[in-house]
Amino acid sequence: VIRCTAAVAWAPNKPLSVEEVEVAPPKAGEVRIKIVATGICHTDDHVLKGSLPHVEFPVIPGHEGAGIVESIGEGVTSVKPGDKVIPLCIPECGECSFCQNPESNCCQKSHFSEPQNLLPDKTSRFTCRGKQIHHFLWISTFAEYTVVPEYAVAKIDAAAPLDKVCLFGCGFSTGYGAAINTAKVKPGSTCAIFGLGGVGLSVVMGCKAAGASRIIAVDINKDKFAKAKELGATDCINPRDFKKPIQEVLTGMTGQGVDYSFEAIGLTDTMIAALASCNMNTGICVMVGVLDSEISIDPMLLLTGRTWKGTMLGGSWKARKSIPKLVSSYLEQKFNSDLLITHTLPFAKVNEGFELLHAGK
Ligand code: NAD
Ligand code: ZN
Repeated sequence: VIRCTAAVAWAPNKPLSVEEVEVAPPKAGEVRIKIVATGICHTDDHVLKGSLPHVEFPVIPGHEGAGIVESIGEGVTSVKPGDKVIPLCIPECGECSFCQNPESNCCQKSHFSEPQNLLPDKTSRFTCRGKQIHHFLWISTFAEYTVVPEYAVAKIDAAAPLDKVCLFGCGFSTGYGAAINTAKVKPGSTCAIFGLGGVGLSVVMGCKAAGASRIIAVDINKDKFAKAKELGATDCINPRDFKKPIQEVLTGMTGQGVDYSFEAIGLTDTMIAALASCNMNTGICVMVGVLDSEISIDPMLLLTGRTWKGTMLGGSWKARKSIPKLVSSYLEQKFNSDLLITHTLPFAKVNEGFELLHAGK
C-alpha cells in the first residue's frame, strides 16, 4: 500500500480536500501509475457540482493525466514499471464489437456501458481516513498514485514531456478528434466553434489541421480571442455584441450557415444555436459539451437534412493506439498543444486551478 496525497471530493459543491490517502496495489489486470501531471477539464467541475450522472461521493476526480507505471498486477503484459503512460477515460479492450469497428471509439468495457464508480471488479483501491473512496472514470488522476485497468492505459513515447501531454488524456484529443474524426471536416470548408476553453480551442486546431478555410470562434469572453486566432480562427465573435441570435449572425456571415458547427460549452441554448448555425441540408453539428439536462428542438432543424452528432474523447480514436500516435505527432511538432496551457500549479493548489477555470482564465 502506498500512502500519498490526493484531492478528495467528499460531497458536492465543496472545495477539494487535499489529504493523505492509501492506494492499494494493483490486482490482476491492473496497473498502478505515479501521476506526474494532470489537467483540469470542465467535466471535473461538473463532478464537483454533483451534476454528472453516476458519480458517487466521496470520489477522487481528474481524468486528464500522464504518469509513469509504478507496478503491475498479475497478467499485465502491455506495460512495465518505468513506462510513460496516459490513463484513458475511454478504454480500448480491443475485443468488443465497438473496438473492432473502425468508426467507433466507445469500448463496451467502458463505464459508459456499465456506469459505476469503482474499478471493474466493483472494489476501490483508495481509502482515506478509514473510508472507501470512489474512482472517477476508472482513472482518478487527482492523486499522486492511481490504479487503472490495463486496457485503460496507453503507453507513450519515453521522450514525451508529461506536464504537456497530459492534455491528450482528454481536452486536446476530444476537441481535435471532434473535428477530424467525428465531423470529418473537409478542406475548404467553413466551421463555427462555440466555447473556447481547452476543448473548443482544440477543435479550432483540428479544423485548421483538416484544412478548413474559414474558422469562426464564438465565445462571450473576448479574452479568449487572441489565442483562438493564434491557433487558426479566422473570425472571432461575441454573441453579446449582437442584437440578433448568434445563429442568424453566423448564417448572415456565411450565406447559408456553416458546414460544421461544434458546441464545446455544455449549455442548452448554445447546443440549439450551434445546431441552427450549420446549413440546413448538409450541415453537421457536433455536440462536445456535457449537458446535464434534457433538450428539446424544433424537428424541422433536422428534417431538412442536418446531422447532429455527439463525440466522446474525440470520436473514432482507438485510444490505446491513437493517443500514443498523437503524442508522437506532438513530438514531431505537427501541432503546438502547449499553447493550451495557461497556468502550471503545484498539486496542493488544485482548488486555485478551479478558481482560474471559473474566472475564465
Ligand atoms: P472551459 O470552461 O475551459 O471552456 C468553456 C468556454 O465556454 C469558456 O471559454 C466560456 O467563456 C465559454 N462560454 C460559456 N458560456 C458561453 C456562452 N453562453 N456562449 C459562448 N461561450 C460561452 O471548458 P472545457 O474544459 O473546454 O470544456 C468544455 C465542455 O466540454 C464542458 O461541458 C466539458 O464537460 C465538455 N467536455 C466534453 C468531452 C467529451 O468527450 N465530449 C470531453 C471534455 C470536455
Ligand atoms: Zn475531460
